[in-house]
Amino acid sequence: MTSMRVTLTDEQRALKAGVAEICKRYPGEYWRQLDQERAYPEAFVTELTRAGYLGALVPQEYGGVGLGILEGGLILETINACGGNGAACHAQMYIMGTVLRHGSEEQKRRYLPKIATGELRLQAFGVTEPNSGSDTTKLQTTAVRRGDRYVVNGQKIFISRVLQSDLMLLLARTTPVDQVKRRTDGLSVFLFDLRQAQGLEVRPLRMMMNHSTNALFFDNMEIPAESLIGEEGRGFSYIIDGMNAERILVASDSIGDGRWFVEKAVAYSNQRVIFGRPIGANQGVQFPIAKAHMAVEAAELMRNKAAALFDAGQPCGAEANMAKYLAAEAAWDAANACVDCHGGYGFAEEYDVERKFREARLYKTAPVNQNLVTAYIAEHVLGLPRSY
Ligand SMILES: Cc1cc2nc3c(=O)[nH]c(=O)nc-3n(C[C@H](O)[C@H](O)[C@H](O)COP(=O)(O)OP(=O)(O)OC[C@H]3O[C@@H](n4cnc5c(N)ncnc54)[C@H](O)[C@@H]3O)c2cc1C
Repeated sequence: MTSMRVTLTDEQRALKAGVAEICKRYPGEYWRQLDQERAYPEAFVTELTRAGYLGALVPQEYGGVGLGILEGGLILETINACGGNGAACHAQMYIMGTVLRHGSEEQKRRYLPKIATGELRLQAFGVTEPNSGSDTTKLQTTAVRRGDRYVVNGQKIFISRVLQSDLMLLLARTTPVDQVKRRTDGLSVFLFDLRQAQGLEVRPLRMMMNHSTNALFFDNMEIPAESLIGEEGRGFSYIIDGMNAERILVASDSIGDGRWFVEKAVAYSNQRVIFGRPIGANQGVQFPIAKAHMAVEAAELMRNKAAALFDAGQPCGAEANMAKYLAAEAAWDAANACVDCHGGYGFAEEYDVERKFREARLYKTAPVNQNLVTAYIAEHVLGLPRSY
């Protein structure tokens, strides 16, 4: 039976302390400035990479640290709990899993050691399209084999960190949907070098928060045939395979956000005196904060359960989805409690509350929206009829 610790090991505490030490050098002013300019946290990500944290999940034989998904989650959680934004670098941790599990030995040897050292950045993951959205199998971007190349045509939307990455993992249709048995067939995954891509237009989108997100246009973009990961036509199953890791890591971003909001809310509610006493003495102020704290604690337990199963190679779809859902809700409740107790100051940029509020909101919608997670639990865990 898989066991789950309820406290962290000394090594895990040290890991968090190491990340927190780096985060101290990147305080609120750093993230605020980047937010205003919609600029990428280049210095922070570089330092984190050099210290080995972004190669944490790369196995030792490929030059990484070979830690588990829980440790990956603890790294991201700490970044967000310190007031930063792990979204700048979380994707590499879950994207590289697809290369690790389904890439050829040659691809793994070529890319993983350089990803581990930071020589190559793999932070871009191209799935979402304007006409298919959450219904991934209806995506319309095509990759057609021509000799030793694939020719890619189509569009993607909301693809993050493309301008900051060297490599991109792309999902495209290689067999038309009317020529496959199941619509999940005929999709393929490619790992290609963005720096050499001709025929790719990247149009940055200004979003609610600082997220380096883009619309992509592929116009006869040619990539080498060896960019294909695994077997042609099986890409959807490879992407699905990586989703539990993605859910656990994104839940960790949210747990960190929740911790930050609760800590800020408690500090402010203890020191702000109105009507002759700290506002935190009012149940109307303290109850939402206490409830948010309980929700964050519960989400953390579910994240830890999902991570323990994942690291033991056990099925964890239910737990990973529940962790993502519970953590995103807990962070959002904590965000609202934090804005509320700050009164007008919650809306002032210099407090960072409004920035974190915008950042935390994302995880109710992306990488998968809460409705689809709920539909998964209803259908796959509870055995209710498929709703879509
Ligand atoms: C900042 C940001 C960064 C992103 N980065 C990336 C990235 O790097 N790579 C990438 O591939 N994608 C990325 N995305 C895309 C993201 O994953 C999608 O926005 C998300 O999956 C939802 O797709 P959609 O926006 O097309 O919404 P739609 O699929 O159009 O859905 C809209 C809403 O309808 C509801 N809905 C849809 N279907 C159902 C249903 N069956 N049952 C109940 N409700 C339903 C949901 O509430 C959903 O939020 C990013 C998005 C954002 C906002």
